[in-house]
Amino acid sequence: MSPFCSFPSVDSYWLLNATIPDCLLDDSIVPSIMDGKGSITSHTDGFSRLNLQISGGNVRTILPVEDPSSLSTTLPTVDLRGGQVWPCFIDMHTHLDKGHSWERSPNPNGSFQGAMAAVRRDAVNCHEEDLYRRMEFGLLCSYAHGTSCLRTHLDTPIDQMELRFDVFTSLQKQWQGRLTLQSVCLVGLDEFLTPFGEKLSDRVSAIGGVLGGVAWMDPELDNQLHRVFALAHERRLDLDFHVDETHDPNSCALKHVALIAERYRTVGYSGRITCGHCCSLAVQPPAVVRDTLERVRGAGIAIVSLPLCNLYLQDRQPGHTPYWRGTTLLHELKAANIPVALASDNCRDPFFAYGDHDGLEVFTHSVRIGHLDHPMGDWPRAVTATPASLMGLTDVGRIGVGLSADLVCFRARYYSELLSRPQSDRVVLRQGIPINTQLPDYETLDDLMGTTLVP
Ligand SMILES: [Zn+2]
Repeated sequence: MSPFCSFPSVDSYWLLNATIPDCLLDDSIVPSIMDGKGSITSHTDGFSRLNLQISGGNVRTILPVEDPSSLSTTLPTVDLRGGQVWPCFIDMHTHLDKGHSWERSPNPNGSFQGAMAAVRRDAVNCHEEDLYRRMEFGLLCSYAHGTSCLRTHLDTPIDQMELRFDVFTSLQKQWQGRLTLQSVCLVGLDEFLTPFGEKLSDRVSAIGGVLGGVAWMDPELDNQLHRVFALAHERRLDLDFHVDETHDPNSCALKHVALIAERYRTVGYSGRITCGHCCSLAVQPPAVVRDTLERVRGAGIAIVSLPLCNLYLQDRQPGHTPYWRGTTLLHELKAANIPVALASDNCRDPFFAYGDHDGLEVFTHSVRIGHLDHPMGDWPRAVTATPASLMGLTDVGRIGVGLSADLVCFRARYYSELLSRPQSDRVVLRQGIPINTQLPDYETLDDLMGTTLVP
């Protein structure tokens, strides 16, 4: 679809009549506008109607629409007519190395166990070119939809570690300047009790990655966590775990992580700790939840929720209509002052048959699944500023003077418009310049899928 408005081919211009959710503005913006120029035009649910001067790739000036100085400009102008402008998305939990493999490795019953088995079977197909092309397909989608920074978990058992990190670092180099990429190793935490655990940690450290893994409920879980925290502490690595992706209320790996984290905080571990999924938290008794949330907050742990994948996998039984939406306690976590991010997770692979790495789709579906609306409050930060901070990235995920003009411009003015259509005509600006938002063609992966469809 062609973009909803055209942009000048110069690097200095004004974006007029942009509607920006206040929670996406840099903290310094709202007070300075209000102090200097009087009131801004505020709408329901905390919006401001603003004019932005873009220059040299950055946002040079932000003014209320009432301020006459932007109207007397000699620079070209683009009138957004009230369309929303967001900072580029930050997608902090993906699995690029699994992605876009569905057509050759479907999940026959859509279950979590079915997904695990399908991914194990598919490993034989994952040679260097296959990984590179499928991972790049994911990046092409992500970039075109308006993401600027992305973290991917990588399956890194002993026989795959070098291959997957090598492919990742090639892509990281190839995409430098367009997408900021981070990687997290993904193994069962039992691996960290073997000599390979140290080797893996050293490799992660060498590429500036994040240490991670799946924290299964296991009699050895605490020993495994002790080891992985020790390895992270020694190497000053951040941590990112998969925990409790199940409806079993007895799965309480999140609490185990929090308890071990508390101990490592007291000996000076200062890395960022993220736990993903945390589905079972939503089916645990209130007193257990209260205790876990207190410990999670105390240990400085952030949560990333993956609502699309959770909705797909959780509560799936043949012949049964699901009634549990599968997500963690989004509202309760936020109320407990625990940072919460929302992210893509899997796309078109055995863990999730659909998905396109679109930050807006993640946000839209999360709002609908989790009732994150009325008011929307600062939930837009969950796909922008919050994951930026959890990934240790500065100056991204928000809109402010002096920050790069990495923006997504929508025709939609209100949330009722933004969350009702896919916004395929959005304009993605990178350093103030519109990018090509054409998505890659599925056909380009046909030879990797072993399928050629005959019409
Ligand atoms: Zn995941």
